[in-house]
Amino acid sequence: MSSSPALVGLSLGAGVQSTTLLILSAEGVLPKIDFAAFADTRFEPRAVYEHLDRLEREVARPAGIEIVRVTAGDIRDDAVNPDAEHYAQMPLHIRGNNGGAFMMRRACTAHYKVRPLKAEVRRRLGYPYPAAVPAGVFAQQWIGISTDEASRARFSDVDYIRHEFPLMLLKGGGSHYVGWTRQDCQRFLESRGFGNTPKSACVTCPYSGNRRLRLLRDTCRCGHHREVHTRFNGRQDQACAHLTSRGREAEPCGCGGFDNPDWRDAVDFDAAIRHGYARAVARGSALHGEAFVHRSLVPLDQAPIDHVTRAEWKERQTTLFEPREDDERGCSPWSCRGEDDDD
Ligand code: SF4
Ligand SMILES: [Zn+2]
Ligand SMILES: [Zn+2]
Repeated sequence: MSSSPALVGLSLGAGVQSTTLLILSAEGVLPKIDFAAFADTRFEPRAVYEHLDRLEREVARPAGIEIVRVTAGDIRDDAVNPDAEHYAQMPLHIRGNNGGAFMMRRACTAHYKVRPLKAEVRRRLGYPYPAAVPAGVFAQQWIGISTDEASRARFSDVDYIRHEFPLMLLKGGGSHYVGWTRQDCQRFLESRGFGNTPKSACVTCPYSGNRRLRLLRDTCRCGHHREVHTRFNGRQDQACAHLTSRGREAEPCGCGGFDNPDWRDAVDFDAAIRHGYARAVARGSALHGEAFVHRSLVPLDQAPIDHVTRAEWKERQTTLFEPREDDERGCSPWSCRGEDDDD
């Protein structure tokens, strides 16, 4: 039985930690990976797709690393299209007709992320489903988990994939002899010009905390905040006032007016799933209650997302970096989110 992997891949969520791993591999600090796989639910914020394109162009391709995008369908269309062939539900917040509140059981991560990623590994190993992968043949799968999230690390549930968590063993982090924290990764990304790496998760992921939803609502498609458009006279149709310095020159952003299509998509989606998944409704299985993206059980465009949670206040007091709510860790297909995770 071989103990060396047939190939080494990175599970590229395209967030802070996995982006750090990709760059470290491309720079030769870590061994070169054979490929990086991004599981695309096709409903990520536009900024994530732009970040992925840039990573491909500026980091992966020059280093000879392939980024492969795998998908099991469009999570939004599967939810709102009555003719969808299948769907795998998000953990939507439900107010039952009897007044009780609960979350739907999450099936989306396994369907839209884990399955296509495993299929890609099998394909690359040469044993696509349903072929049996011989004993001893396996791929090493790197996962971006930093030391502050160590409790989320999990063994693989299949023999042909073995998980590795390179950030945990890396030297040079600020606060530990070995292991990088999320802040170490953030600092590293800033030093490489990737300080604005966005959080990757479906636009309407019901785990989204208020901070993420505020960002979605208040960030223009040019990448700058609503206030930068309204700075001079309070009107949102004003050109973006953000200036980027290029050498000695200052270059204006060039965006003509505030626009955030991700937020519109989110509000539309929230309204569309109020009575459940369209396919189920069309077949007479509407929810016995109402479904919402926000935990307040209020339509998204009215939800109290300006409320700053206790966790957010606490983190604001302890870090100079942007605070991160406990429920904003993203959706890693390979690691536990915590109590609510049952993948
Ligand atoms: S980001 Fe949220 S909605 Fe999307 S697959 Fe993960 S848990 Fe589901
Ligand atoms: Zn701008
Ligand atoms: Zn703009």
